[in-house]
Amino acid sequence: MKTLLIAGGAGYIGSHMNRVASDAGYRTVVYDNLVYGHRHAVQWGEFVLGDLEDARQLESVFKHYRPDAVMHFAAYAYVGESVTDPGKYYRNNVAATLTLLQAMRDAGCGVFIFSSTCATYGVPTEVPIPENHPQDPINPYGRSKLMVERILADYDAAYGLRNVCLRYFNAAGADPEARIGEEHDPETHLIPLVLDAALGRRKDVAIFGTDYDTPDGTCIRDYIHVDDLASAHLLALEHLLDGGRSRAFNLGNGQGHSVKEVIDCARRVTGRTIAVRHEGRRPGDPPMLVGSSRRIVDELGWKPRLADLETIVGTAWKWHQKKGGASS
Ligand code: UDP
Repeated sequence: MKTLLIAGGAGYIGSHMNRVASDAGYRTVVYDNLVYGHRHAVQWGEFVLGDLEDARQLESVFKHYRPDAVMHFAAYAYVGESVTDPGKYYRNNVAATLTLLQAMRDAGCGVFIFSSTCATYGVPTEVPIPENHPQDPINPYGRSKLMVERILADYDAAYGLRNVCLRYFNAAGADPEARIGEEHDPETHLIPLVLDAALGRRKDVAIFGTDYDTPDGTCIRDYIHVDDLASAHLLALEHLLDGGRSRAFNLGNGQGHSVKEVIDCARRVTGRTIAVRHEGRRPGDPPMLVGSSRRIVDELGWKPRLADLETIVGTAWKWHQKKGGASS
């Protein structure tokens, strides 16, 4: 049985990864400081409370569990905050990752899967965005992720650290059995906020910008189910464990949905009234982000199973009702 260390495995995407990897027969070890993660989201494998900046604790975790591979989900991901407090982002997303990579080198662990983002592309000049699109991020969050991508390329060349960078589009949805789901505090993502409004936990949902150059004037995003993200990580892991070379892959469905379409979809799925209010554009939002995932489909045989927006929103809705309590 292979052992997988999941840094940030108590967070939204990491906790789904933990479930999917456990189901696939991996022994999983979640390493998380619970700053944004939730202990109750770690329902599979082992849990170690720890910070990525704590080199000594990492060393003992590598000695004790001897992981065959590491997946790294532990990062800050609020774009707006990254603009006002970039130091926090470079320290946590870049410097702490270096500490993790050093612990891997010291332990002789040479397989790494990295959570990257479509935010590394900046404003797209081509849609759907392919992996060879120029990477020119427009905020510190995207830059912090791109820096790690560059570091990984150098570490592969110099130290043989084989890695896969997965550039996520908009992760959404929840475990279809609603055992875990999206639980951010503060919540800034569209789908959970819309579902809060459907439940009456918020009086309405803001639409940030109605004057974009898109068919209905609102921003278009490519929503991908968190379980489909996790299954892609598993394929990337198998690729590297089988001796495959380092790669970068987009993870999206190649289909864009506007903010208004998402809200209409949530009205259909929930059968509830959802009031909206129109606000100005949110700084840093590109009008349209849609990715081509052809590369991972062709090279690793990835098949998204929950690609339909109604299915994505439906799983989120099931979780959201169960979760209780308003997200703040
Ligand atoms: N959005 C919105 N109202 C909200 C939250 C988000 O109109 O209360 C829009 C946002 O401007 C973007 C899309 O919904 O165009 C998706 O935003 P989200 O924060 O979910 O993900 P992002 O694309 O920023 O990663």
